Amino acid sequence: MLKQYLQDVAAKLKSGKRVYLCPAAQETVLASKMLRKKYAVLPTGICDNDLRKQGRHLNSLPEIEIFSFDSALQDESAEFLVIAPFHSAEIMGNLTIERSVPPERIINYQPVEQRTTCVRFAQNWMVTDHGYYCCCMENMPVFPHDSSDVGKSVETLEQVRNGLIDGEIPIPEQCINCIHHKKSFLYVSRRLNSINFSFQGWCNYKCGYCSAHQPERKNYNANFYLEEYLTEMERRSIVNDIFSVLFATGEPTLNEKRFPLYKHCEEKSYFLDIFSNCSVFDRNLFDLAGRSPVIIRKSFDAGTPETYARIKGVNCYGKMVDNVNQYLSAPYLVLNPKYLFEPGINDNEKDILNFVHLCAGLKVDFVTPVFSFLGNEYAKSDHAKKMFKLLVDRLLENNIFTANVDTLYSGSYHKLYMESF
Ligand code: SF4
Ligand code: SF4
Repeated sequence: MLKQYLQDVAAKLKSGKRVYLCPAAQETVLASKMLRKKYAVLPTGICDNDLRKQGRHLNSLPEIEIFSFDSALQDESAEFLVIAPFHSAEIMGNLTIERSVPPERIINYQPVEQRTTCVRFAQNWMVTDHGYYCCCMENMPVFPHDSSDVGKSVETLEQVRNGLIDGEIPIPEQCINCIHHKKSFLYVSRRLNSINFSFQGWCNYKCGYCSAHQPERKNYNANFYLEEYLTEMERRSIVNDIFSVLFATGEPTLNEKRFPLYKHCEEKSYFLDIFSNCSVFDRNLFDLAGRSPVIIRKSFDAGTPETYARIKGVNCYGKMVDNVNQYLSAPYLVLNPKYLFEPGINDNEKDILNFVHLCAGLKVDFVTPVFSFLGNEYAKSDHAKKMFKLLVDRLLENNIFTANVDTLYSGSYHKLYMESF
């Protein structure tokens, strides 16, 4: 459906209509790149409710400005295409229910309803070899499934998800006071916006906080045929018209099962959101990004080769940067660098400023600053707060926005994230 929507948007733009993509996110940057390459048009702009983004231009597409919805709505004939794995129902609800914008002005409109629940239940799930879950909070609820039977596994997903939203399954205790358990807009259709494949897998890096570098993990992925999950979800009509596949299994570009998944994403024009350490250059991924949208999420976590080697356990900073540069020459590829703070290792000015300089040189639009999974104590320290703010401020000076990973972290992370502005 993404291709069809972009074709419609291009036709409207060519006929003189104003069409905005929303929100300001990696997916809308990719959609803009697809419009430019395939139809030689660009959207009128990108709309976002975040005041910090309004009035700015993207680094990777400087022709595009970010507007507020208020200013875009002043043109009563302007139309919108909403592309956001985590927030699209929220944006549609905000426009049509809170602002009374006629649904016909949203090119991919679907009815939404308001409920008190965790919005993740409706929109995004992660699947591992043992269970389904929606977030990485401490004590997050996990729902077991049978990964040896894809049909049964997807049936479990559908039952759990609908049961939680409709109240047939009681809201888990740990969700009741969570910041994400609140009044939210959901799609009436209950279709999912994304699935995150997080099965166990092998990685060639040796990050101290991760267990993926284990020899016995090498052939582990032979257990899973990831695209079969997508086929089963499509058969059950639980996949939304614009859909993201997050692929975070060990180092995905070393996973021999990636090829049919790449093919499936291309055929269905799903966003492929891949977590890669970029230690190897995957020619198939690069070629895919010449035809279909790809986001590479890459943890840099350092600004110098020495710190990088210390964190990753492998000395290959230069090769990694070369690979990243090569990937970025693909027309439909967006890079999302992450900076994961490691106490005493990368929480210093030199690493942070070098990292920002590198991101600016790569024309990055969005960076994800996070804390390692060490708990919240470090994040509460004055030094952590100071370094977090330094990173966010320097990025913004370079026109780089930060993407808040709202499914991954706790209320205290969100508080810190908001305080840093
Ligand atoms: S984000 Fe919060 S409410 Fe949602 S599943 Fe996780 S713990 Fe529960
Ligand atoms: S690069 Fe990622 S998957 Fe690999 S060891 Fe480090 S954290 Fe784990």
